[in-house]
Amino acid sequence: MRHDRRSLFRLLAVLAVSTAVPVAAAPRSPAADRRLPALKREAAADVDRMQVFTQQMVDTLFSFGELGFQEVETSRHLVGVLRENGFQVKEGVYGIPTAWVATWGSGRPVISLGSDIDGIPKASQKPGVAWHTPLVEGAPGHGEGHNSGQAVNITAAIAVKKIMERERLPGTLVLWPGVAEELLGTKAYFVREGLFKDTDVVLFSHVDSEMKVTWGQGDGSGLVSVEYTFHGEPAHAGVAPWRGRSALDAVELMDAGWNFRREHLRTEQRSHYVITRGGDQPNVVPSLASVWYYFRELDYPHIHSLLEAGNAIAKAAAAMTETIVEWRILGAAWPQHFNRPVAEAMSENMKAVGMPSWSEADQTLAKGLQRELKAAEKGLETAVTKLEPPPAEPKGGGSDDIGDVSWTVPTITLLYPSNIPGLPGHHWANAVAMATPLAHKGATAGAKVQAMTMLDLLLRPELVAQAWSYFRDVQTRETKYTPLIGPQDVPATWLNRETMERYRPDMRKYYFDATRYKTYLEQLGVSYPTVR
Ligand SMILES: [Zn+2]
Repeated sequence: MRHDRRSLFRLLAVLAVSTAVPVAAAPRSPAADRRLPALKREAAADVDRMQVFTQQMVDTLFSFGELGFQEVETSRHLVGVLRENGFQVKEGVYGIPTAWVATWGSGRPVISLGSDIDGIPKASQKPGVAWHTPLVEGAPGHGEGHNSGQAVNITAAIAVKKIMERERLPGTLVLWPGVAEELLGTKAYFVREGLFKDTDVVLFSHVDSEMKVTWGQGDGSGLVSVEYTFHGEPAHAGVAPWRGRSALDAVELMDAGWNFRREHLRTEQRSHYVITRGGDQPNVVPSLASVWYYFRELDYPHIHSLLEAGNAIAKAAAAMTETIVEWRILGAAWPQHFNRPVAEAMSENMKAVGMPSWSEADQTLAKGLQRELKAAEKGLETAVTKLEPPPAEPKGGGSDDIGDVSWTVPTITLLYPSNIPGLPGHHWANAVAMATPLAHKGATAGAKVQAMTMLDLLLRPELVAQAWSYFRDVQTRETKYTPLIGPQDVPATWLNRETMERYRPDMRKYYFDATRYKTYLEQLGVSYPTVR
């Protein structure tokens, strides 16, 4: 059924490209086209009316500050909000306790909205204060801003749902969380398990300091995340060290080997590691040690060859130390490639919505934080970023496992302006703005753009057809998606469990109570902005 409809769309798209004549035969309803501008204005006005609703979701998730795979309170809260608003939600999907899928509506198009929900280790920070002052010393926090994207998507979905109900527009809305994005932990599994098999278009949203959308392959990398574990032989390190075989020696030799190899890799690669287990105490030869690598490159063949080099070095380190090595994939992300026609449509909506109007206080916080970090004191972005063609030679950079989704179904990422430019990323400073008016205004602006683009997809079937024709005829003409995870790999849901168990009791005292306070700043007694 779906394929018939999509083939028809594709056929019409091809005809529309090859000759001007068949455009008249395109399945667009003139009535629908006439409704579109007014419905977009209505959705934007409704998003404005929901500002408190959006703000409370942003503040609540900020206060949970949960790490990847442990987003228990976060998911419980979001599922509650979605059910209250008429969505059907399946929880604990694909063997991931904090993953869920919310749906509403019926028929085509199927519009899928995703956004990440996890935090950053040691990024606990009092919002609105422009220096390092953790709420709970050593605890995780939203040092990236993943507390805001679900508010963007859910607000937009509710606004559009009301319009769909009244106008009797066919279509299905699907919402889902990017669980453990910082670990590149779940989206490849969502793809493998079929979350997107009936999807027409994915509109992903992600926090940024800019209002921006891109198409093609931008700067940024794909990666594979793999943990090497060495097994040795314990012994008394003083009495009989010759009877021991040190797993920690193997980890150190592996790291030394990788760091020598690094000189002879392409300049596009980025790789980094942490030692996750290094033994217990010096007088026991470590029989168990682990090192966790991220291998980043620009495309699948290069990522795969880094993995093979890593595996070879690990085996060599095991041979040198007479230990045994095993490894497992903890996460993976394809490089991101975004859809041109949908990006172009979204870019028009960004121009229409424009940037939030920043207050003097917003700018003071931004400049105070930039000063604190010795970054350029340029304040906040004030213009929507122009849609540009992708870079001719992409450079390496960050990753997001939305890459895997983007090679499965036409996908774009809406970047909305909820944060301050010039920050280090994955840092307490990136949390400072994330429960302040700055983040709230950015989320509202993002929700408007998201809602308007959803209306484009609902009322302009030719846009869905064009998205698929770009996906099929341009993006995937030569490059086919090969997952970096295998059929036997499983989501690494045990990660971060101990860290959250350690910090959650102290963090709980700071959860946002929306029944008693209007904002999280009010609850914490922070005067906005607080700068040196
Ligand atoms: Zn992110």
